[in-house]
Amino acid sequence: MPRGKPTTRGIKGAPDILPERVAAWHRVEAVTHRLMAACGYLEIRTPVFEKTDLFVRSIGAGTDIVDKEMYTFEDRGGESLTLRPEGTAPVIRAYLEHRLGTRGPLCKVYYLGPMFRHERPQAGRFRQFHQIGAEAIGLGTPAVDAEVLALLTHLFEALDVRGLTLELNSIGDAVCRPAFRERFAAYMRGRRAELCPDCHVRLERNPLRILDCKVERCQAVAAEAPKPSAMLCAACEEHFREVQSLLALLKIDFTLNDRLVRGLDYYTRTTFEFVNPTLGAQDAVAGGGRYDGLVEEMGGPPTPGIGFAVGMERLVASLPKGEAAGVPASTGVFVATLGTEAFRSGLLLLQDLRRRGVRAAIDLEGRSLKSQLRSADRERFRFALILGDEELKAREAVVRDLKTGEQAKVPISRVLEHLLAILEG
Ligand SMILES: [Zn+2]
Ligand SMILES: [Zn+2]
Repeated sequence: MPRGKPTTRGIKGAPDILPERVAAWHRVEAVTHRLMAACGYLEIRTPVFEKTDLFVRSIGAGTDIVDKEMYTFEDRGGESLTLRPEGTAPVIRAYLEHRLGTRGPLCKVYYLGPMFRHERPQAGRFRQFHQIGAEAIGLGTPAVDAEVLALLTHLFEALDVRGLTLELNSIGDAVCRPAFRERFAAYMRGRRAELCPDCHVRLERNPLRILDCKVERCQAVAAEAPKPSAMLCAACEEHFREVQSLLALLKIDFTLNDRLVRGLDYYTRTTFEFVNPTLGAQDAVAGGGRYDGLVEEMGGPPTPGIGFAVGMERLVASLPKGEAAGVPASTGVFVATLGTEAFRSGLLLLQDLRRRGVRAAIDLEGRSLKSQLRSADRERFRFALILGDEELKAREAVVRDLKTGEQAKVPISRVLEHLLAILEG
């Protein structure tokens, strides 16, 4: 073991979520679970690590994620493992391994949890970050696309997140994508000199991956590249038209963005992002799309699918102000006691309250009544139960409403019942 001072610093880009922020996360999680259940999605929990090969196959060698960002290590058995950089590949792996496709025509699952990428830490980008994701596997109809987009819209509505823009595009399929790819590659070859060294390699291996490049001048070249939406085949045109018509029916606003192009071949047709313009450079709160070629790419039968991932850090940052700060409403009972006998009776009442799930606390330091009441206020308790040896002799306690200042004397035998009643109200 190295000697010297023990470290008190965590890993850069892997922030702690401190107690005062957790309330906002709980709310996001609770709303997600409720909404997913309402929409017929079942939760799936896959491990945070998988065999490295799973991600190399599904995300693809030559992508920034696989080449530069994965946390890959050899375990003690010499096997190469990787902390999951995203959630779709593990879900498809589980879908195939457990034959989830045999349970019905459409398998709808969702997940919630940490992902890991070794990126340069900056505002809105983390090395451990959290995603809510959903996958609908088995059907390729436009109605599934519309349902997925409606679900995301409901999620943002339920959390009162406003001002997000849905950007939508279609990138074609196995029929029309090859011609697009050809024209795209020809264009990029023409502007080869302007591209970064990494993109020269991409140009040889898979030109569409130039779209993933984060170098500014490559992005400028990419912005002027041919667009897949202009080259859709009739079936893709029809699919895209129907998705838009269903969104209009459901009154879900969107804008078309033909720069939303994914670099990987198994992505097909509908692709989308929800953008929050107030978040700065990292403004995409959610993104996703169809991946009709992915299940087959991963060794399964040809199976259409669509999914999305929501960045939870960015979602929490998009919550209405007070909520993100996590100021809780005042709740529960602070048991303030004075004297040894009162403390012992107070402990019993505290136990009864907690057993019934009521948030309750008692002073453990023997402080003055005044400072006990001060901390009850600071910790946002709604009521104080005041118990002194005097009150005890009279078999009474004082119940004070810390919000209104009103107080009442209540017989000790009825104090629990009384507290439970006023907490209900
Ligand atoms: Zn580049
Ligand atoms: Zn097509």
